[in-house]
Amino acid sequence: MGPERAREAGRVIDARGAVLAPGLVDLHVHLREPGGEAKETIATGTAAAAAGGFTSVACMPNTRPPVDSPAAVEWVKARAATSARCRVHPLAAVTVGQQGERLTEFASLERAGAVALSDDGRPIMSAAVMRRALEYARHTRLPIVCHEEDLTLRGDGCMNEGPTATRLGLAGIPAAAETVMVQRDCELAELTGGRVHFAHLSCAGALDALRNGKRRGLRVSGESCPHYWTLTDEAVARHGADAKMNPPLRSARDREAVIEAIADGTLDCLTTDHAPHGAEEKLQTMDRAAFGIVGLETALALTLTFLVEPGHLTRASVRCPGSTRKVSLEPGDPADLVLFDPDARWTVDPARFRSRGRSTPFAGWSVSGRVLLTVCGGEITHLEPGVRVADAPGEAVAAER
Ligand SMILES: [Zn+2]
Repeated sequence: MGPERAREAGRVIDARGAVLAPGLVDLHVHLREPGGEAKETIATGTAAAAAGGFTSVACMPNTRPPVDSPAAVEWVKARAATSARCRVHPLAAVTVGQQGERLTEFASLERAGAVALSDDGRPIMSAAVMRRALEYARHTRLPIVCHEEDLTLRGDGCMNEGPTATRLGLAGIPAAAETVMVQRDCELAELTGGRVHFAHLSCAGALDALRNGKRRGLRVSGESCPHYWTLTDEAVARHGADAKMNPPLRSARDREAVIEAIADGTLDCLTTDHAPHGAEEKLQTMDRAAFGIVGLETALALTLTFLVEPGHLTRASVRCPGSTRKVSLEPGDPADLVLFDPDARWTVDPARFRSRGRSTPFAGWSVSGRVLLTVCGGEITHLEPGVRVADAPGEAVAAER
C-alpha cells in the first residue's frame, strides 16, 4: 500500500458536510498488466481507483498473456501485493487464451484466488462451450461474467446502429447483437442451473431479458456503467473515439431503460469498465480507434450528478459500484472508507487523471461530488489536495476545499 501509512491514532479531519461511506467496489476494470503497461499498470490503475474512492477492484483477465492459469492469477495477486493502492481481485479466463474453445481449470483458478470467470473483451460465441462452462462452474463458487455480443451481428461496426451512424457514414452495431446473447445465456442458465453475470449492459432489450430471467428465478445478475446512463450515440458526433466503447453508446430510449433498470433493481451493481488505452490507439478515426474509455476517477461524480441529483436513486440506495462490504468503525479495526463532499462541483480534466488512460467523453463536464479521502485497510490511499489531516488529537484543522 501507499507510503502515507496512518500509524497514529488520533489523526483528525474535519468532515463537516461530507459523507463517510464504505469504500467503493468496482467489479469491472482493466488494469492491463501484464503486457499492456504502456496503457496502465496495477500501480497506476489502482492509484486511479483510490482517487475515485474505490478500495476494491476486480480486474479483467484479457491481458497479454490472458490470465488463464493459476500461475497467472498468482502473478497478478503478487504484483498487486507490492504495487496496488487498493484491494485487487483477479478474474480468470473461461477459455484457454480466451479463444472460446477449451475450458480453463476452474477449480485450480478458484484455489489460486480468482473471484469469477470471464472472457471479457470477447463473447463466448459457441453456445455449447458456454453450456459446458456453466455446468463446470457449478462445481465452484465462481460466476461466469459475460461480455455479450454476437460477433456475426457486430461485423465491422464501430458504433451503435441507428440514425447517427447513418448520418456519420459509420458501420453500426445493432442492439440486437447484445440482446440475443443475453437471451441465449438466460436459456443456458436455466438449462444448467449455472450462475451468469452480465457485464456492461447497454440496451433496453438486454435489460428486459435480464428482468425476465430474474422473474423466472434464474441465477442471473447484471451491471451497467456511467456512460450508458449519461450519454447516447449522438455523443460520437461530438467526441469521436473518446465516445467509442464496447458495447457502444445506444439510443435515448436505451439510456432511459438503463436508468429504469438501475432504479427498479434489475441491475445489481454499477461498474466502470475502466478500459485505458494509449493516445496512439485513441487518436484515430472512429472505425480504427480502440474500444474503451477510462472511468475510475469520474464514476462517483457521474453517479451523484446523473442518478442521485435527478432523483433516480436516493443517496442511501446508491450501490455505486458495489459497496456491500461490512464496515466497522470500531477503533483498531481495518477500515475501507471513502469520504466525499457530495455538493462540491468540479470540472473533469483528463490531464489530472492518475490513470495512464486519458480517453473520456466527460472532459470539461461540470460534475458534483468530490472524493476527499480514501482509506483502505486503515491506510490513507488518497488524500485530495487541499484537504488537511491534523496530527494532534482534538485539534481539527479545517479542511480547505
Ligand atoms: Zn466487455
